[in-house]
Amino acid sequence: MKSSIQIGKIMDIPIKLHVTFLLILPVFAWMFANEASFGLNEIKPDSLRYVLSTSAAILLFVCVLLHELGHSYVAKKHGAHIQGITLFLFGGVSSMEEIPRNPRIEFKMALAGPSVSLLIGLILIIIWWFFEAGGSPYLHLIWIVGYINLVLFVFNLLPAFPMDGGRVLRAWLASQMPYIKATHAAAGIGKMFAILMGVLGLVGLGPWFILIAFFIYIGASEEEKSTEVSLILEGVKIKDIMSKEIKSVNSGISIEELVDIMFKFKHMGYPVVDEGGLKGIVTFTDVQRIPKEERKNVKVSDVMTKEIVALKEEDDASIALRQMTAKNIGRIIIKDDYNKMTGIVSRTDLLRAVELLE
Ligand code: ZN
Repeated sequence: MKSSIQIGKIMDIPIKLHVTFLLILPVFAWMFANEASFGLNEIKPDSLRYVLSTSAAILLFVCVLLHELGHSYVAKKHGAHIQGITLFLFGGVSSMEEIPRNPRIEFKMALAGPSVSLLIGLILIIIWWFFEAGGSPYLHLIWIVGYINLVLFVFNLLPAFPMDGGRVLRAWLASQMPYIKATHAAAGIGKMFAILMGVLGLVGLGPWFILIAFFIYIGASEEEKSTEVSLILEGVKIKDIMSKEIKSVNSGISIEELVDIMFKFKHMGYPVVDEGGLKGIVTFTDVQRIPKEERKNVKVSDVMTKEIVALKEEDDASIALRQMTAKNIGRIIIKDDYNKMTGIVSRTDLLRAVELLE
């Protein structure tokens, strides 16, 4: 994901900011400063008001980060590897390679985030309430941040994917019925919820409701589909679905030459191999970034991805799918037990396998 930048690491988890986050931050700061319901709009001088509202916007995202760290902490404790936490327009997303398919763990993991929000919210509101007599403008800041955390708590517990409440619901249902049935049931409830919110938005509660309704509806459908796909791929070995005829390219060739190879072999991605062995992977997306007239002068080594994601032939195909999703990549190099590259598995290979097995 090139559209986000890493700002640091907490608990060994990379923390990233997405560009949409940088755009929304001033919007929030402006809203806190001018919206009467937050109580900052009458504070004088203006400079103090903007310092407070900007602090509130930054603290809001710190709290979103703490919420995500709550999920990650529990996930890590149960052995999941966290790829990173990315702060987006509407909050945070933790990407994990392996989400445990164990209802009890999933239940704890989903509840951990909202619990953090509830705890922060309650503590700040109590502090605010305790000192309220002072009436200092700084207390408004505490109130705003406390209030936002309580909103985060409630909003995230809505019983619909992709909210935490949807996961809590599925985990609970999965303790009573098979996992796939629980997913369908939870997604169904989420969709009903989305339709209800959409209708409420249309009859006058406003465009926000319609936007959130869309967000929930799409989230429910995606969760349903991806659970179905990963259940189908479970127990399928990578070596049975991977492409074995691998065409590799040299890092010294130009992008123009690479495009010719792409036309000839009709693959979208190629391992880059020099005398020293595997150097990286180059895909059609990398090519697209280079304007046509420059392709003669740019080499494969300039655009290739050097971080190689590799799995073993004997690994489960569902792991390949999860890695592709978590790392936002389209293909994975496959090696045998002697660390020799023997194949490549792409999203297309996975989808084909799913179609055949369905
Ligand atoms: Zn959450």
